[in-house]
Amino acid sequence: MSRKAVVIGAGVAGILAAAALAPVVDQVVVLDRDALPDTPEHRKGVPQGRHAHLMMDGGLAAMDALVPGTDMRGHLLAAGAHEIHLSRDMIALTPEGWFHRWRRREHPMITCSRALLDWAVRTAVLDSCAGIEIRQAQVVGLMGSGERVTGVRVLADGAEESLEADFVVDASGRGSRIVKWLERLGIDGIRERTVDSGLVNSTRIYRVPRGAEDWPLTLVQPRPHTGEPGRSGMIVPIEGGRWMVSLGGSRGGEPPRDPDGFVEYALALPHPVVGQLIAGAEPLTQVFTSHSTSNARRYLEKAPAWPDGLVVLGDALATFNPSYGQGMSVAALGARILARNVHRRWGGPGLARRIQRELAKPVEGAWTLAVSSDVLYPGVVGGEPTASDLFAARYSKRLTRAATGSYTAASALWDVTGLRAAPTRLMRPGALLAALNGPSLPPLSGPPLTPGEHGILAGLIRGGRSEEAPVAP
Ligand SMILES: Cc1cc2nc3c(=O)[nH]c(=O)nc-3n(C[C@H](O)[C@H](O)[C@H](O)COP(=O)(O)OP(=O)(O)OC[C@H]3O[C@@H](n4cnc5c(N)ncnc54)[C@H](O)[C@@H]3O)c2cc1C
Repeated sequence: MSRKAVVIGAGVAGILAAAALAPVVDQVVVLDRDALPDTPEHRKGVPQGRHAHLMMDGGLAAMDALVPGTDMRGHLLAAGAHEIHLSRDMIALTPEGWFHRWRRREHPMITCSRALLDWAVRTAVLDSCAGIEIRQAQVVGLMGSGERVTGVRVLADGAEESLEADFVVDASGRGSRIVKWLERLGIDGIRERTVDSGLVNSTRIYRVPRGAEDWPLTLVQPRPHTGEPGRSGMIVPIEGGRWMVSLGGSRGGEPPRDPDGFVEYALALPHPVVGQLIAGAEPLTQVFTSHSTSNARRYLEKAPAWPDGLVVLGDALATFNPSYGQGMSVAALGARILARNVHRRWGGPGLARRIQRELAKPVEGAWTLAVSSDVLYPGVVGGEPTASDLFAARYSKRLTRAATGSYTAASALWDVTGLRAAPTRLMRPGALLAALNGPSLPPLSGPPLTPGEHGILAGLIRGGRSEEAPVAP
């Protein structure tokens, strides 16, 4: 008998879930309420796509494992994405000072627009995995019972119809109706938690000023320990010779959406480098803002009962403050867990529940990282710092200080923020010792720029206009 799976949502999580299921079923139908574009284009169903999206190394590795025969990094780079090695290609002001830059090319990360990323992942999956079909339809409910989900109810062309399936994955993102749908099957009492720092993201795309084509990723991080709202700024190189510039502010420190205010906000950050780089650059879009930035979690792994044939992953399961750049990577790690389990245990009893419990592991790591910092901001809704948050925050402050001038400490931090390792990596002897010893290099008084980069920045500050920037030696 032929096996069929349905995936709700064709975002990163949905497409990767389809790749995970394709080897064990005859057909995977991916349903999305949007018509999906043939080219890298922004779409309505992924409004956060206007903002900077970093793909961490751990997420990329999971995607490589999921899509057979595809070098996902190579595929993305060929499509125009950039590869950034955090050790070398980034200038970052942390709450504890500037990171030193190192010669090593390690701790890679991919940057490009979200539209390019979605398109590249989707085309790679469709080219490599047989039996996946994408259909435009809105899912409005689940079929089956509290014991077993047997399909979905969809709205297509104004009419409601049933679509039967042996396995259903909900990857419909932050707005998923899964808790309501489960209630209709008789499963209630699902605990949800939201921790909201009130972060607002404002983003604008600029043309890269002439001469600054190889400018490093630039980051001014928020300071969670001051009792003040967190304010941050980031310049991310994306395809097409463009910079995606994102400013973020927690409650009371929100960035404006008017163009002048945008640059002023960037200039007023703890270091003005982001503002200095963009003050004279050519904007290519308006300023877009996003308020969808809370940490929100559905504890589905602890549900009193769980139906066979249903798994929930990606943002439908948990979302994180986007400042930490984890959501898509956690979705990819989740799809990997799905793949491993369906491959080994398809048809076994309790498979879906087992997967749902395992999915909580990467979620827990990312959640702890985000929430233990976010609860420190003034006016945070949904969370008081607990003793363990305060301990984590104190340790993270100490490790970050060490990481500004110790490669051992920086590596441990980047392994965890890059989702290459679980947070326990920060408690291994090497990291503990590095945190204890502090930075081995002296603190930097300004961004660690090469002589060429100093020249470019000076030219941009002097002239405001990119054409006047001297070319890097
Ligand atoms: C401002 C901002 C910046 C971010 N930056 C980063 C970053 O740097 N790095 C990172 O890893 N993550 C980042 N994230 C998080 C990231 O956007 C999400 O984690 C990621 O999009 C999750 O993918 P998903 O597939 O689960 O959900 P989505 O990408 O939201 O996709 C859900 C899909 O489901 C479809 N859908 C919804 N409901 C239905 C329905 N009923 N029927 C049919 N289809 C439906 C939608 O049309 C959509 O296509 C950021 C988020 C925000 C808000």
